[in-house]
Amino acid sequence: MSNTLMIGDARLDRVVDLEGFPIALTTLFPTADAAALAGHLDWLEPNFMRGEDVILSIHSTVLRVAGRVILVDSCVGEHKPRPRHPLWHERAGTAYLSQLAALGLAPEDVDIVFCTHLHADHVGWNTKLRDGRWVPTFPKARYLIGRAELAHWLANGPDDPMVNHGAFKDSVLPVIESRQVDEVDGEAELLEGLTVRPLPGHSPGQVGLSLHRCGERSLLCGDAVHHPVQLLKPEWSSRFCHDPTQAEATRRALLADVADQQAWLIPAHFRRVVGMQIQRVGDGFLPK
Ligand SMILES: [Zn+2]
Repeated sequence: MSNTLMIGDARLDRVVDLEGFPIALTTLFPTADAAALAGHLDWLEPNFMRGEDVILSIHSTVLRVAGRVILVDSCVGEHKPRPRHPLWHERAGTAYLSQLAALGLAPEDVDIVFCTHLHADHVGWNTKLRDGRWVPTFPKARYLIGRAELAHWLANGPDDPMVNHGAFKDSVLPVIESRQVDEVDGEAELLEGLTVRPLPGHSPGQVGLSLHRCGERSLLCGDAVHHPVQLLKPEWSSRFCHDPTQAEATRRALLADVADQQAWLIPAHFRRVVGMQIQRVGDGFLPK
């Protein structure tokens, strides 16, 4: 298990906010059937599954390429009121920023915070609490958010603590107010070999990053793929998916591309790996 992966001349590091928490398979994936996994427990257990629970981590992927530092998804964060999710509620004393420091990175060094989508477990470290106010954790960064994603959450209870755990108000609005947000749309090229890829379905305007450097490829896919069981069963969309049918179509297309291009799949919740290479097997996929 490694927390570092090289894609050509680009370096990707995993910075972990929550190392692992279990959710019952059929709670996360309402249409799942544990029997479908019976022949695969040798690689799923104990890292990705335990009994009938799937285990997820919550981590950022820090991408260093062409002299830029890009932090992809900022996890749960600290001090955020999340009373409906005890593991996420009012956290303090986590090792998140010290892991960044161990990579030689201060918050001021982050050039871009790329939010694949705006769920509460992807935006938490966007802000930190200082003197009772939420301020940007990364003071010099541009925060990149998909145009459709931002429009959706602005129109759907941005101040409502019952919507998305209230994450928009404490973790997105402050970086809008500090004028650090840039919207991204379509297949925008951020720099040579780094392109935005629309991945709608899990959320209305989810976006990923396609990285192609020195002949090697990876796809940072956010929650288009939540957990390794979806390699076997791409039709299992999560209960958190905004449009499960669109999420499945997005997932099948990206998994096919990743397998056919021999790329690395870089999700946001796979435990203890930065990413995986995959191969087609029947109607689904398996790790290589
Ligand atoms: Zn997530």
